[in-house]
Amino acid sequence: LPDNDCIFCNIIEKNKSGKTEYEDDEVVVLWDINPQAPVHLLVIPKMHIARLSEFSEKDLHLLTKMMSVTQKVVKRLKLSDKGFRLVINDGHDSGQSIFHVHMHILSGRRMTWPPG
Ligand code: 5GP
Ligand code: ZN
Repeated sequence: LPDNDCIFCNIIEKNKSGKTEYEDDEVVVLWDINPQAPVHLLVIPKMHIARLSEFSEKDLHLLTKMMSVTQKVVKRLKLSDKGFRLVINDGHDSGQSIFHVHMHILSGRRMTWPPG
């Protein structure tokens, strides 16, 4: 069920456009409002699940779906020419700030390792 206090549930519910790169019945891809790279997208399952570690077995197909949507977007934006990075923050130490599962796609600049 959507969570009324959740930023991503609200964006998904209200069908706000403009920042949407992809959408289907299960997954939406938004341009990050505070980009950390020239390309910074968020791959978000529409179902409200707080964090990766709380995915239940019956919903695991959504992770595969998120990856297949990522491939589509990566192809469309030609991100694999120079490369990209995927990030899922989970919990306090990771810096997760929105507790509705999302995967970052970062691209368009040389990334550093180890990450900050
Ligand atoms: P986290 O820190 O939880 O892994 O990532 C949350 C991300 O959501 C951040 O990169 C932040 O910039 C982004 N964000 C926060 N609020 C909004 C919003 O209203 N719209 C969009 N498109 N991105 C947002
Ligand atoms: Zn939510």
